[in-house]
Amino acid sequence: APLNRDYHIDRHRVTLEELLGEGQFGDVYRGTYEPSESSGVLAVAVKACKVESEETQASNFLEEAYIMQQFQHPHIIKLVGVCFESPIWIVMELAPFGELRSYLIRNKGVLDLATLLLYCHQLSGALSYLDSRKFVHRDIAARNVLVSTHQCVKLSDFGLSRWIEHESFYTASRGKLPIKWMAPESINFRRFTPASDMWMFGVCIWEIMMRGVKPWHGTRNQDVVHKLEAGERLAMPPAEFCPPQLYALLCQMWTYEPNQRPTIGEVKEVLHEVLVEERNHATD
Ligand code: ATP
Repeated sequence: APLNRDYHIDRHRVTLEELLGEGQFGDVYRGTYEPSESSGVLAVAVKACKVESEETQASNFLEEAYIMQQFQHPHIIKLVGVCFESPIWIVMELAPFGELRSYLIRNKGVLDLATLLLYCHQLSGALSYLDSRKFVHRDIAARNVLVSTHQCVKLSDFGLSRWIEHESFYTASRGKLPIKWMAPESINFRRFTPASDMWMFGVCIWEIMMRGVKPWHGTRNQDVVHKLEAGERLAMPPAEFCPPQLYALLCQMWTYEPNQRPTIGEVKEVLHEVLVEERNHATD
């Protein structure tokens, strides 16, 4: 799908401020974008392509923008536009509070359970939307969730979905694959489906409920697969961190057999129930 012309952005209208982070293929800056003289400025995040010479690299880089432009959802980071001339810049909506994982760690003391459940429910909305568009994300993890406001998180990083198709990338970069988040069939047979997304979403919810603890900390990648095959799963978080009903849902999402996992629709429904229950409980 070619990138819509409407997404063309004049570089002179974009200002780069501080560096937010370095991705594998581009650096991300906080910046501003002024759509026209009278429009006022928008806070944006700008991803600048690192490799400027190689044409294939540039088109691969742009694929993330192609993917993003298809989606319009309140809990998915939006594409604002692209500066096509080298160096390619992908301009997107800024999430002012940055990565969810570090946000969870920074705000451990003030984040209540209802807020964490709200985040999970918002993400289930985004994933249900992607599922309805027949899109498999393949890299659902807390590190790919950004915080827009204290009450709003958004899914980002469509990078892996663009790369994993390529056989050479998969074999060359095995070490870089998010093994600890991946479903067994993804690790063993490179199968990525709506069901493997549910496994990953389960791990992502676990990270959120654990306030930013990484899954399988201290376990080597190659040992994770064996543990999973032996029936071992991520441990139940402390009860005050995670309602037992939610952990039961996570265990269903981690069913070895992909077609026995709940669908995103079912997951979203349970998350809503748990959220409502926690809110009622909190106001008792
Ligand atoms: P890649 O998959 O391309 O290697 P990455 O997962 O390492 O990328 P990027 O998506 O390149 O990460 O982003 C790098 C960092 O920039 C992120 O970790 C995040 O902190 C920050 N960032 C990215 N997009 C945004 C945004 N829209 N708003 C705020 N911060 C962002």
